Amino acid sequence: METQELGANAAGGPDGEPFNLRASSYFLLQAEHCCTACGQASRVYALAVPPGHESTEADLDLDDIDADSPGLDAQAFRDWLFSPARWQAIDGPAMISSIRALSPSVAHALRALAPRFRPNPERGGQWSNFCEHCDAPIWDGALFPTPGQAFCPRDAEAASHIAARPVDAPFEAYFGMCWTDSYRNKWPLFSRMGYDCAEDE
Ligand SMILES: [Zn+2]
Repeated sequence: METQELGANAAGGPDGEPFNLRASSYFLLQAEHCCTACGQASRVYALAVPPGHESTEADLDLDDIDADSPGLDAQAFRDWLFSPARWQAIDGPAMISSIRALSPSVAHALRALAPRFRPNPERGGQWSNFCEHCDAPIWDGALFPTPGQAFCPRDAEAASHIAARPVDAPFEAYFGMCWTDSYRNKWPLFSRMGYDCAEDE
């Protein structure tokens, strides 16, 4: 079993699938965040993947469900939930957070490139940034969802302060949260990575 090679990082998915996202390369993003514990600016890190990455989580796109429809019925939801993992290529870029597992090669690369981004034993081994001054964990919710936060720049000017380092090596992860280009507020960030997003319609 591949999972045995994951060692302490074997948490992965709820059904034991080690990963729900893979790509032939990835980006290490670096930004700055003001630590609420010590008040100092700390470097923080995030991971993103280019268009053409693959995910097993793409089957159920909630955005496609009409607001007036009753949504999936219970049986359809069960079918989806218990169906075997199916890899699907995704057209756009994506950034991930609430990361539960990374492949050993990616974890190894991060130890050198971003040592303060590491599994947090107090949160079940979920990958977390830690302040470079006081070592307090920095919650993903303080970095990702809201415009103005480190990994949600409002515009190109704000995004220009983010370093996007391409890493030409295979990437595998089990994420809890995936920020695709359906999140319009991530467009300035994706543009910084070299991918300009536009309206579908
Ligand atoms: Zn701090």
